[in-house]
Amino acid sequence: MDDIIRFKIDNIDLETKLSEMSLQKVKTIDGKISILEVLNEENLDRSYMAVVNNNQLKGVISQTDILNSIDPEVLIKKQSIEKLIANYKPFFIQDDKTIIEAITVLQEQKTDAIIVKDNFQAPIGIFTTKDFIRFLKSNNDINLPVKHMMSSPLEAVDHHLSVSEALSFIQNKHFKRLIVKKDHEIIGLITQSQLLKIINHRWIEVIKQRGEELSQLNESLLEKTIRLEKLATHDYLTDLFNRSKLDSMLNYELHQVRRYTSRNLSVLLFDIDNFKKVNDTYGHDVGDEILQKIARILTVSSRESDIVARWGGEEFFMMLPETNIEQALVVAEKIRLTIEHTKFNDDIRITCSCGIAQFRSSDDIKSLFKRVDEALYNAKESGKNQVKIESV
Ligand code: GH3
Ligand code: MG
Ligand code: MG
Repeated sequence: MDDIIRFKIDNIDLETKLSEMSLQKVKTIDGKISILEVLNEENLDRSYMAVVNNNQLKGVISQTDILNSIDPEVLIKKQSIEKLIANYKPFFIQDDKTIIEAITVLQEQKTDAIIVKDNFQAPIGIFTTKDFIRFLKSNNDINLPVKHMMSSPLEAVDHHLSVSEALSFIQNKHFKRLIVKKDHEIIGLITQSQLLKIINHRWIEVIKQRGEELSQLNESLLEKTIRLEKLATHDYLTDLFNRSKLDSMLNYELHQVRRYTSRNLSVLLFDIDNFKKVNDTYGHDVGDEILQKIARILTVSSRESDIVARWGGEEFFMMLPETNIEQALVVAEKIRLTIEHTKFNDDIRITCSCGIAQFRSSDDIKSLFKRVDEALYNAKESGKNQVKIESV
């Protein structure tokens, strides 16, 4: 339409063949992209775009089509149209001004519509480039008052309307622009494409916000999962692995050792000596603190690849990969001595007993546990505060 107005003003003969005119290039868009991506296109000014798939023209899509495909529900429902169009003030012209004056205003203000007011300053119609085309066809005088070619009555929406209501209004009426009134004043005039742009902008904001909300939700879910995972695999008092996690890790390790027969694996089982008496003497809370401290001693005495777990009440299990029974004995003795020489809660002395077993190719978890338990029993029977190796 802009082109046709330009032709008239430039005095180009309207009989000129289309192929001889300098036409605007049609923007093409890939049929595979989504509506959201189309909305994100910078150059959405064009009324029509050619949809292309594999270099073949599939059809033409208009801004109206795009607008219709956006579910107004999804858009900002509570946002009033007034806020959205704050920067789109209308231009006015008196109804007795001429068509050429009206067209000049349109050109100068780079707009395609203007509100026509009567002598009492009441808005009575709208003059658009489309009316100008009608005028061209009518062969009327260009000095005709604009009120003779304007569209009227004026169909304006109230400023209280929500964005989605305003959208529904122009969609239902097949209007190209939205006129907004406040009381009896026209306060906004916005074309469909401008509206689309603002909505797009707002929509992206909404999506961004949703994205942030989602990522926050994800984070808290992740935290919860980590916490649950930790609860399921760790002992709450000592923060060591619990019995069930130990079982699964030991199973995996036994599988590895069986596959690579050259590998060693030793296990240690510690039991605090006379711990019942500690509880009875100092109370259960002190007993708890001592268990926590022992857990730390075991952890710092172990290598990264070792697994330390709470086996039961005052019993701890260690799995030492790549360690034969002689090396395991050194580790166990070191731990036993450290515990023996540590002053717990200022001056409480604790000792522990320990059994050691080394993996044999015929072993399963049960048989390995049985041997290490027997070795521990042996240490207790032999007078406690000592380390015993499994019997051959
Ligand atoms: P032994 O030298 O034969 O191992 O004697 P013991 O007293 O250590 O052995 P027993 O199995 O008779 O008692 C273990 C005690 O450990 C009983 C219980 O009061 C204490 N115990 C077990 N779990 C906890 C715990 O989580 N916190 C505290 N404070 N004490 C615990
Ligand atoms: Mg015990
Ligand atoms: Mg004990």
